[in-house]
Amino acid sequence: MKNATFLVIGGAGYIGSHLVKALIEQHHRVIIVDNLSAGKATAVLGGELIVHDFEDRAFLDQLFQQHQFSGVFHFASQIVVSESVKDPGKYYRANTAATLTLLEALRDHQVGPLVFSSTAAVYGEPLYTPINEQHPTNAVNPYGRSKLMVEQMLADFASAHQQKYIALRYFNAAGADPQARIGEQHDPETHLIPLVLQAITGKRPPLQLFGQDYDTPDGTCIRDYIHVEDLASAHILAMNYLNNGGESGVFNLGNGLGYSVNEVVQTASKVTGEEVPRTYAPRRAGDPARLVADATLAKNTFGWQPQYSDLAEIIQHAWAWELAKN
Ligand code: UDP
Repeated sequence: MKNATFLVIGGAGYIGSHLVKALIEQHHRVIIVDNLSAGKATAVLGGELIVHDFEDRAFLDQLFQQHQFSGVFHFASQIVVSESVKDPGKYYRANTAATLTLLEALRDHQVGPLVFSSTAAVYGEPLYTPINEQHPTNAVNPYGRSKLMVEQMLADFASAHQQKYIALRYFNAAGADPQARIGEQHDPETHLIPLVLQAITGKRPPLQLFGQDYDTPDGTCIRDYIHVEDLASAHILAMNYLNNGGESGVFNLGNGLGYSVNEVVQTASKVTGEEVPRTYAPRRAGDPARLVADATLAKNTFGWQPQYSDLAEIIQHAWAWELAKN
């Protein structure tokens, strides 16, 4: 697709901003809708940023009357699992109900296709790894369920109204723009790699390493860290696939490589040349021992190939961003 116009909802956030960058690099026109509750205007490296809540139906009606989009990417969501347990209403409203409003607007204005940010959290405690898309979905917290419900709505809207979609189930998004212009910046930050790096710079207290008694080779949890640039490329391939007549569906996005928390800590030490200040804490509630993706389907269906499978390189990019950001 050449010189198309795309809508990116939540395009000022961590993953969305990397997609916006990639779309701009491919010379597409991009409209970004973000209320900046978590995103940053400075993360939007191009396109037109509209600061607004996407769940405002009158706003969406006007937007879809003004622009002819070749597709919509939807990233905007609440993502802190522990908060979702304490305040589920916030998650069902922001992630599920708001997306229903979007789906109805897309239906009424016949806009599509839609590429949606889903999560490995839809699987819950894994029954086997690597996890393929046939693995049962059994989300164990409101965050995962709020995303799973959207996947179900997407399937129902696709059958009833022929609205095409792809839901991408991310494993652990990590890394940053290789030129360190944009990267991860959550508040609160709960993710391992930025917490490790900020423990090194002294911006945060020592890392609390959660759990050393898991049934894994070194006793710490294993995760599949996938570079944010590789997530961005998957979104574009998924969108092109749908626009070229491909079928709706759900796809895992991960490297297929598992690294333990200890391996992340050791690799961060090697990359930065610094010890990681850390303390040892009990398990964090709800953390499965091992989450590793089987992403064969995305590779075979729309030709995705992650470019950054080396953990050291992923951490190197995150570190350069950590030093570059203010
Ligand atoms: N983790 C940790 N200390 C922290 C944050 C995370 O030991 O301060 C561990 C966490 O228990 C998990 C892994 O790092 O095993 C990845 O956690 P993260 O929150 O980055 O992603 P999740 O897999 O929970 O989505």
